[in-house]
Amino acid sequence: MSDENTYDVIIIGSGPAGLTAAIYTSRSRLKTLMIAGSLWGGQLMLTTEVENFPGFPEGIQGPDLMNKMQRQAERLGTEILFKEATDIDLFSNPFKVKVQDRLFEGQSIIIATGASARWLGLESETRLRGRGVSTCATCDAAFFKDKKTVVVGGGDTAIEEALVLTKFVQKVMVIHRRDKLRATKALQARAFENDKIRFLWDTVVQEILGKERVEGVHVKNVKSGEESRLSTDAVFIAIGHKPNTDLFKGKIALDDKGYIIVHNETRTSVEGVFAAGDAVDYHYRQAITAAGAGCKAALDVEKYLESQES
Ligand code: NAP
Repeated sequence: MSDENTYDVIIIGSGPAGLTAAIYTSRSRLKTLMIAGSLWGGQLMLTTEVENFPGFPEGIQGPDLMNKMQRQAERLGTEILFKEATDIDLFSNPFKVKVQDRLFEGQSIIIATGASARWLGLESETRLRGRGVSTCATCDAAFFKDKKTVVVGGGDTAIEEALVLTKFVQKVMVIHRRDKLRATKALQARAFENDKIRFLWDTVVQEILGKERVEGVHVKNVKSGEESRLSTDAVFIAIGHKPNTDLFKGKIALDDKGYIIVHNETRTSVEGVFAAGDAVDYHYRQAITAAGAGCKAALDVEKYLESQES
């Protein structure tokens, strides 16, 4: 393999975890390749205003924040490939990463592939995606000014989505499969106090109705078995996230939900392979915690590479 395709570290993923790791490894003069994916930047690319990332007193748009991180990483020397990693060989070092027909070698790897919103798995949900079906109220709420909307789920994400929607829409119906929310008490209290939010308990969405656009949902009460229809202009699915770790199945240890198992903060089950961000963390899931984890992974890579030299 030519030196040109050999790196000290290959970072897979380009959200806050991956880009922070890249800033650190490049600044430490480690030859760094980031395989960013074709839809680079992670979940912040789907958000609008970010008000809780330190350093931006007026807030910043999610994509602007990611552009700044990307420019910073590139200025410090990170090479970025805006393609998907298609295969990976972690059985021997140097590790090998395939990107279509190109092969790259890395002395170390940082996995920062993040997580994606989960879907209900209905045909109608796929067909009407972007036509009233969404997983991001922050991105899409403004399209439904004074309209009726539905949020599916009962966790923090669902309640946050419902609260975001109330700034724009006429009404939000939260449809939850149980009769108790999983969301934190503080969020629950805000939702219960909000006149625009109503709850439909013990209910699942069986179908999203509408040909060209969302017109309603077909729901079923799981206790009584009763089925009914509800008219709505939009359905926001907020039933959790799935880690983007399919590429690593059978290659590093994952838990039963597919999250990467780490020890000592960032170390995976394969020596020399590190992980950071939402592919590991299902609890905090914040840009700043992902960035912090990316920094730790980069520092751990540095130590690992030093130990390999001595
Ligand atoms: P979550 O806590 O796993 O909640 C998912 C919700 O969706 C649950 O209420 C679950 O119902 C429901 N659900 C799952 N699969 C479903 C299905 N197939 N059909 C219908 N309903 C389904 O996920 P999350 O709300 O995305 O939160 C994930 C983590 O991020 C949590 O740790 C959360 O605290 C954190 N988070 C924090 C904040 C914040 O602090 N502001 C904001 C967002 C997220 P059940 O309750 O019956 O299981």
